[in-house]
Amino acid sequence: MGDIDCRVAAARGLLSGAGGGALVALNVANVRYLSGFEDVWDAEPFSLLLVTEHEAIVFTDSRYSESAERASSDSPWEVVCATDDLWSDALARAAQSGATCVVVESSAPYAVVEQARGKFAGEIVPTGGWVEGLRAVKDEAEIDRIVAAQAITDEAFDHVLGFIAVGMTEVDVALELEFFMRSHGSDGIAFPPIVASGPNSALPHAHAGKRVVAYGDYLKMDFGARVGGYCSDMTRTVVIGKASARQREIYETVLAANLAGIAAVRPGLPSRDIDAAARAVIEAAGFGECFGHGLGHGVGLEVHELPSVGARSEEPVPLGSVVTIEPGVYVPGFGGVRIEDLVVVEEAGARVLTRSTKELIEL
Ligand code: ZN
Ligand code: ZN
Repeated sequence: MGDIDCRVAAARGLLSGAGGGALVALNVANVRYLSGFEDVWDAEPFSLLLVTEHEAIVFTDSRYSESAERASSDSPWEVVCATDDLWSDALARAAQSGATCVVVESSAPYAVVEQARGKFAGEIVPTGGWVEGLRAVKDEAEIDRIVAAQAITDEAFDHVLGFIAVGMTEVDVALELEFFMRSHGSDGIAFPPIVASGPNSALPHAHAGKRVVAYGDYLKMDFGARVGGYCSDMTRTVVIGKASARQREIYETVLAANLAGIAAVRPGLPSRDIDAAARAVIEAAGFGECFGHGLGHGVGLEVHELPSVGARSEEPVPLGSVVTIEPGVYVPGFGGVRIEDLVVVEEAGARVLTRSTKELIEL
């Protein structure tokens, strides 16, 4: 069976485990994943997938139908260019297949699900996380794409170190990262780069703004490329000029936490245990209050996906998942450090995909 047949079979397995029926998937990353269609979908949620016991049908409209038809050759998917509206067509086919229950992804807008109820005589059951759960475990082709995306990200970091200078703005640095990645094989970017200087670096998800990079600043850069739809994600924090003793202390603490987190990765381990290994280092250094977010997250077609790696997550981290390990210490008014690596969860533990140095860089 090809990768896509396996994905459709896995979706059918989830359906039969839930007592049968049909599945309607509409989350754009799930549509991309289950269909396996390349270069067809964009970020617009205008296509639906219907999986029944014997059928796998893509419902789309004239904007996508030609490329979807082309992509569906040698695929288990039938493409239907909707004549009425997607939902009416999909639910009619679900009824024809004999399904009395349709499972709809709970990411569907409430109003859309309510309308669907009026178009189907059987039950409509919103369910979350089915396809997302399948996506957590990557096959080899998916990992290859993430590796390629991360390689571009590492190159971009190496490049930007020679570009950054006192007097330029955060936006200047963000644009250079973006331009480099896009001109070196990235399909786009995984997310708008975070470039946060000086006190802004204490904000975990600061936007790159007009602040001018100054001597003595931390400069935190969090960015990722995209290859074949798959994301990378990494953060490095550098010091502009000579690091102060306090900057160095915070940096070394975060680095030790990053290494402890990576060392703790084992397939099947509850993710909170991995989070705890890194968090313990930060707490022991007296910065426990300064690390508010979880240790990491899955990365794939979306930059944040399953599995989550956090203090509250009891879910085991599956073999074959790709996750970030990204501890941070953020001191309000002073600045913050995050060091984020991307790892594949393998039998022996974490295989780190991020190649950029983690030694403190003083530019
Ligand atoms: Zn990141
Ligand atoms: Zn991340």
